[in-house]
Amino acid sequence: MLSEAQKRNAPVFSIGGFIENDPFRSLIFSILSARTKDAATLAACKKLFKKFPNARKLASANRKTVEHLIYGVGFYRQKAKYVIRAASMVVREFGGRVPDEFDELVKIPGVGRKVANVLLLYTFGEDRIPVDTHVHRISNRLGWVKTKTPEQTEYALMKLVPQGLWREVNHAMVAYGQTVCLPRNPKCKACRVREYCTYYKEIYIR
Ligand code: SF4
Repeated sequence: MLSEAQKRNAPVFSIGGFIENDPFRSLIFSILSARTKDAATLAACKKLFKKFPNARKLASANRKTVEHLIYGVGFYRQKAKYVIRAASMVVREFGGRVPDEFDELVKIPGVGRKVANVLLLYTFGEDRIPVDTHVHRISNRLGWVKTKTPEQTEYALMKLVPQGLWREVNHAMVAYGQTVCLPRNPKCKACRVREYCTYYKEIYIR
């Protein structure tokens, strides 16, 4: 999956260099990324951090200014409030550092289960399976799980996948979901795992 997505330049591969080793950037990127394409999130983040490069500056930012800078992301008005409040919380409650505990992360505005797991996996190096729309969809299409919500998918995948491979699941499925196993009209004929896929068998073989 990963090599196929790499060949097709999945947008997710462009993020690493921007947020790597920077927990605060990772936090803000993750909040802004909900229901927004990676390219639009990246563009908004670059503009935002040019003007407000750290938590202290963003915490005292004017909301309208932030809205203007992140205009390209979905729900930008709500997210402008979230990122300012998130920055403020990092400064006031966590001493300027993004916390590395799940229970503390989910207290931050705009941070739910998926974002907390993304941060714990990619920023703090824990074994986690963040489940977004791609991971949820592809796991169900493959027939690995039969679940209705991302949270159910996360728990089902944790039972199914050996812990040593958890780190690979999100990266591979997000990249594959952006390039081959698209939400609508997945490119099943070009898919190298189609012979193992329940969705493919149901649509094309039965
Ligand atoms: S065969 Fe189709 S539905 Fe199944 S994983 Fe491949 S692209 Fe997705």
